[in-house]
Amino acid sequence: MELENKTIIVTGASSGIGAAAARLFASEGANVVLGARRSAELSALAEAVNKGIGRAVFLAGDVTSESYADALVDLATEEFGGLDGAFNNAGIVGEMQPVPDMSIGNWTDVISVNLTGAFLAAKAQIPAMKARGQGSIVFTSSFVGFSNGGMPGMGAYAASKAGLIGLAQSLASDHAAEGIRVNALLPGGTITPSGGEGNPAALEFIANLHPMKRMASAKEIAQAALFLISDRSSFMTGSPMIADGGMSVRLT
Ligand code: NAP
Repeated sequence: MELENKTIIVTGASSGIGAAAARLFASEGANVVLGARRSAELSALAEAVNKGIGRAVFLAGDVTSESYADALVDLATEEFGGLDGAFNNAGIVGEMQPVPDMSIGNWTDVISVNLTGAFLAAKAQIPAMKARGQGSIVFTSSFVGFSNGGMPGMGAYAASKAGLIGLAQSLASDHAAEGIRVNALLPGGTITPSGGEGNPAALEFIANLHPMKRMASAKEIAQAALFLISDRSSFMTGSPMIADGGMSVRLT
């Protein structure tokens, strides 16, 4: 059990990578605190975890809200006595358009959810981790924030995901001496609702960008998140960890 007695917040837990990670973390002994906007999906996942795998609670809300970030930490503390880790994974792709055609509203939405949401999460989580004397934070960045890979129309998304690498590195530098590690996970294309699931043409296009000629499953990316959130990565902080089926090798 990699996460015995650890309490971990997982955002974006209603779907895709976050749901797979929440199940995996719980199966490794963690108490999981599930966040996303859709209450019914979170409730169903919490029920499934509590029936067979481990312990879960949930709170629905929007990661762009500072009070929601605080409330997830409060829930972890009230239910499980503190906070050891956070997989800040919620994200949106937004409009896929060249920047000249992109609305400012889309730019603002994507930056708010993907980057400001991570800032608010870390701002709320780090004091609770300091109280514990340790912590591990993982942000879900993307291959698109590092090497693009030939994905069209990704200006806002790529900027938000590249920003997460800088945020992780700055937080890592500020809090390493306090025992708090902060890393970014850069998945390649992953079969999830926002990764093209249900759209065979999109899945084929994305799969073919990868040297492995396939996309990841959500569970494969959850395994990489487990490594970063757990003590297995105890000497890693400020790392942009790539799990991209060779995408970055193809381009460098
Ligand atoms: P997904 O299945 O669409 O999951 C996205 C999750 O984010 C959902 O649980 C969604 O929940 C949550 N979310 C979105 N906006 C939110 C908001 N404002 N407040 C709270 N929660 C919000 O997609 P996914 O592929 O698993 O994405 C997970 C992360 O991986 C994202 O950060 C994404 O950018 C990143 N990523 C994905 C891929 C890929 O190919 N799939 C590749 C690299 C990186 P609600 O709708 O219930 O709020």
